[in-house]
Amino acid sequence: MIRQSAFAVEPWSLRETTLDQDLLAQTESVFALSNGHLGWRGNLDEGEPHGLPGTYLNGVFALRPLPYAEAGYGFPESGQTVINVTNGKLIRLYVDDEPFDIRYGELRSHERMLDFRAGTLSRTAEWVSPAGQAVRISSTRLVSLTQRAIGAISYEVEPLDGPARISVQSELLANEQLPERGGDPRVSAVLDNPLLCEYHSGDGTRVVVVHTTGASGLRVGAAMDHLIDGSSDIKVQVESQAYTDGGVVTATALLQPGQKLRMVKYVAYGWSGSRTLPAVRDQVWAALSAAKQSGWDGLVADQREYLDDFWDRADVEVDGDAEVQQAVRFALFHVLQAGARAENRAIPAKGLTGPGYDGHAFWDTETYVLPLLSVTTPAAAANALRWRHSTLPMAIERASQLGLKGAAFPWRTIAGQECSGYWPAGTAAFHVNADIANAVIRYVDLSGDEAFDRGPGIELLTHTARLWRSLGHHDAQGRFHIDGVTGPDEYSALANNNVYTNLMAQQNLVAAADAAKRYPDRARELGVNPEESAGWRDAAQAMSIPYDEAQGVHPQDEGFTRLQVWDFADTTPEQYPLLLNFTYFDLYRKQVVKQADLVLAMALRGDAFTPAQKLANFDYYEPMTVRDSSLSACTQAVMAAEVGHLDLAFDYLGEAALMDLRDLENNTRDGVHIASLAGAWMALVAGFGGLRHEDGMVSFAPRLPEGLSRLAFSLFLRGRRLHVEVTHAEARYVLDDGEPLTVMHHGLHLNLKPDKPEVRPISAAPVRPRPTQPPGREPAHRLGGEQPK
Ligand code: BGC
Repeated sequence: MIRQSAFAVEPWSLRETTLDQDLLAQTESVFALSNGHLGWRGNLDEGEPHGLPGTYLNGVFALRPLPYAEAGYGFPESGQTVINVTNGKLIRLYVDDEPFDIRYGELRSHERMLDFRAGTLSRTAEWVSPAGQAVRISSTRLVSLTQRAIGAISYEVEPLDGPARISVQSELLANEQLPERGGDPRVSAVLDNPLLCEYHSGDGTRVVVVHTTGASGLRVGAAMDHLIDGSSDIKVQVESQAYTDGGVVTATALLQPGQKLRMVKYVAYGWSGSRTLPAVRDQVWAALSAAKQSGWDGLVADQREYLDDFWDRADVEVDGDAEVQQAVRFALFHVLQAGARAENRAIPAKGLTGPGYDGHAFWDTETYVLPLLSVTTPAAAANALRWRHSTLPMAIERASQLGLKGAAFPWRTIAGQECSGYWPAGTAAFHVNADIANAVIRYVDLSGDEAFDRGPGIELLTHTARLWRSLGHHDAQGRFHIDGVTGPDEYSALANNNVYTNLMAQQNLVAAADAAKRYPDRARELGVNPEESAGWRDAAQAMSIPYDEAQGVHPQDEGFTRLQVWDFADTTPEQYPLLLNFTYFDLYRKQVVKQADLVLAMALRGDAFTPAQKLANFDYYEPMTVRDSSLSACTQAVMAAEVGHLDLAFDYLGEAALMDLRDLENNTRDGVHIASLAGAWMALVAGFGGLRHEDGMVSFAPRLPEGLSRLAFSLFLRGRRLHVEVTHAEARYVLDDGEPLTVMHHGLHLNLKPDKPEVRPISAAPVRPRPTQPPGREPAHRLGGEQPK
């Protein structure tokens, strides 16, 4: 586990200066490169040693049976698992016949650096072979953000002390042997040999292979080609071979000290569920030749240009805490990588950085990732929602199987089918449907994308509203209840009137009725009549929101505040996460909260609570929220900041931001936590910037904690860029261009005009006593420099 930072604190990069073999699996995740379509874990070029080899293509999965000891109606019968596809990043090196392997010989130096502006992972090493031959190796790799099928590597080697025979061997390898994984349910199922060879050929420096995935019926093509050169006076011999699981291209030269051998490797991937073998093979050939036409320098230049543009729109500047500054850029970089070119595919919980959670996408995307993408990279947000929309037929079918109307989107999936075998925290977590609606509302409001609104937007809103209307019911007094569902907190299940679910469903129902009014022709096509949309408004209006008058707080769901409180005093630090040490039966019956639930409701539906209720609720839930999910700290940061616990919010920001850099949950090896990374941005922008979005209006309530002296961020709103800069004393708003924009600053309207900065003072925060957390679950104090436990 990475505790004290294993990385140098630098503003624009993540640099590791020595190689710790015990941390390989974690560093493979944090150094992973991806563009949302293709993901390469940060495995060493030579492939071994490794924590976990990983090459992923978004949407490529294997089917595996989901056996049940006791089956039941409506249980999904098969699950989808992301597979490690053909590894194209392997480059092995031989020095006078000895393989370069850091476990042997002497590793004099080793450095890796992920550059957030260049979008590259570079590595330099000096190694002395067991026979005493010293070499210097430098490699740089990228997964192209502009050519989504392409990964590329530039690899260079030179002998240092005397002449050496050097062979650089580039490889494509399917069905790599994977290490055994443990019994943690958050780890993926490992499938042996998931790829069946259909085609392989090698020709000169080029190798192409095509495989199929068996039951999931997908066809995956991978191809590599090379440019081999080096110092002008060297003679290089090149050979290639192709075989069923891949191929190799070997370049050999006798080098003197000062002479270099260089190999540029281009790798192209393609996959399809319907195209034929020649079509997939030709597709990867075509992608390869396009990459070669750009050349290594061209790919590097395009990558930087793409990222310059991204940082121009999305950068967050943090003064006063260099580690948070680095962490938030690392976070933005990974979130961009997860979504940039996903293009109508899901954004999985781990992006394409590891196989955790079987490569599934959850509500994490809509609730945690899309708030960030909607205002920095709106096209990527739209694409993620288009992917959801493309799975609508499956969601309609699932609703019908469940005896419900409308659409029931899956709790976890790769291709759209429900893959959760544990229905109390899967099928019953219906809130995912309102989360999708919430993301649609936010995206449309913030982007002004009318085509999306009229098209996929209204369809998603309509079908999810229908679900709520059929899932809930009016009682004899007319109140509308949604019973027996699971909210975000997975330590409660099958509860009645979960406040979060009900408030989000309420928003969903109103938004669907509004959309039907905006686009009557579309509504007619969807079969929505005035009676149906009036029914949605009635249900929304009559929505039951339980409140505990005696304790003066909102129960997370009906009766929650009456339950026995978990025995926190007798729970030891080693017993967290509780889900690995206690039965769900026990957890469900008690007041113990895995992750922000009611607190998330207050962040997303702030309009439904008074300021006094927000404070009382926040302080009530703190001592029982154990944060066994990485989705929690960021939400707690946002609400802690709003209610005035600024230092606590700062600590939660630290936790969200350092989740992977410090491996706080001991599972970064399975992939980075994309929602928590997006949450670092959220903690800063929605927490200390106070960004909210309600009824089409963007508002800010900025206030900095003691640990920060300045925060600056940009938002891309309806095609124009708004820059916000916050100090302890004031906030400055600058609209770059376009139409004027009205926003709120601490409750006051500001009419922003292009290039006319508006500066407003910030009053001091009220002083509030800091609430407590369950013993042993307090976040580390950032101000005192405390290390996480
Ligand atoms: C959380 C879920 C989340 C999932 C994937 C679980 O631990 O409880 O809310 O969607 O992880 O990140």
